[in-house]
Amino acid sequence: MKVLIVGAGGREHALAWKCAAAARVTEVLVAPGNAGTATEAKVRNVNVAPADLAALVQLATRERVDLTIVGPEAPLVAGIADAFAAAGLKCFGPRRSCAQLEGSKAFAKEFLRHHGIPTARAATFTRENFDRKWLRAQRTPLVVKASGLAAGKGVVIAASTDEALEAAEAMFAGRFGAAGREVVIEEFLPGEEASFIVIADGVHVLPLATSQDHKRLQDGDSGPNTGGMGAYSPAPVVTSALHERIMREVIEPTIRGLASDGIPYAGFLYAGLMIAADGTPNVLEFNCRLGDPETQPILMRLESDLTALCEAALAGRLDTVRAQWDARAALGVVLAAAGYPGQVRQGDVITGLEQAARLPGKIFHAGTRLESGRVLTSGGRVLCAVGLGTDVAAAQRQAYALADLVHWPGVQYRRDIGYRAVARRPAG
Ligand code: AMP
Repeated sequence: MKVLIVGAGGREHALAWKCAAAARVTEVLVAPGNAGTATEAKVRNVNVAPADLAALVQLATRERVDLTIVGPEAPLVAGIADAFAAAGLKCFGPRRSCAQLEGSKAFAKEFLRHHGIPTARAATFTRENFDRKWLRAQRTPLVVKASGLAAGKGVVIAASTDEALEAAEAMFAGRFGAAGREVVIEEFLPGEEASFIVIADGVHVLPLATSQDHKRLQDGDSGPNTGGMGAYSPAPVVTSALHERIMREVIEPTIRGLASDGIPYAGFLYAGLMIAADGTPNVLEFNCRLGDPETQPILMRLESDLTALCEAALAGRLDTVRAQWDARAALGVVLAAAGYPGQVRQGDVITGLEQAARLPGKIFHAGTRLESGRVLTSGGRVLCAVGLGTDVAAAQRQAYALADLVHWPGVQYRRDIGYRAVARRPAG
């Protein structure tokens, strides 16, 4: 069996590594991949961009790929699953119509409202119909969101009305390009954040192991927002009672609602949630793919063959399979380049990877490239060091033992990934 992974980040390295581990998989192609996937057994990088759907279809056809798994959201929102299906190729990921759940926050809001799924009260505007009077009548803080894809940067938490007005105007004026043509303005919800990721086949749902990420750059969850500085699994915040509520109040009505709207959802579905004091799981956002870096610790714990789960989902028989999980906890620490999340320096030589490879755990690559046998930095988030342990604290120790061996000028990473889970008693 031949597998194609679309994407170049840490999530895609973990996907490629996991698929390659299946005995029946002969080769995994990654388009375009990174230095980590380039050096992984049974894995080969192919220089095709995730945005080039026609070239990806050609690649999968020419290489007789049996299964394609799409990492990032952009090709899904652009319709990669539709393009592959039209060419008779198996591609695991939602169709364009479903990927709108992530591609348009305005669409997601309307869907949630229509199906009575808990979420913040909101209104959607364009530059033409923006109602400043409505905004002035709202209680602050307010959350202002560019509706389209903005690489996780299109959300402003505004403490005052003026700040909210300014944020919305800036979005209409093109601060996030086309993503800000529509703007969603919603009430601020207090609570604890959690993420919940499932595999869906249009009808049935298979929840993945729970996970939690850290979005802020610095220790204590302070500093600017990032794509994610670390993650761990399981997430004790998702107790079994909360797990049940999320399934019943969010995931099941979402999958049912999409099916009844005529756009059955097959693929990974990620719900970003704010858990209110009374336990209500409010949806902050949907992603139509796996999270990065949540994927890295989650896949470290997955014992089942991921390709078999994806194939079962594509065949609409997810109800006939189960996922087996390592009972241990996994924790990933993201190592970022100097300047991240702003402008970063690239092209620095990374040292210590060979020593780290002799230790337990695993380092997944994100922004790296190979040049004359050396591994160089080539992005903001560069590596994710993942440890396993009998509890989150033990997994944390293993992950930091790996991270501490690796070096390049200006490397930065948080020292406290998982601190909430370490402080909390294990979920009952
Ligand atoms: P989103 O991309 O919509 O998940 O927003 C990014 C981040 O902004 C979330 O992870 C939350 O930390 C925060 N956020 C978004 N919407 C809200 C809200 N309604 N209330 C409070 N925080 C929010």
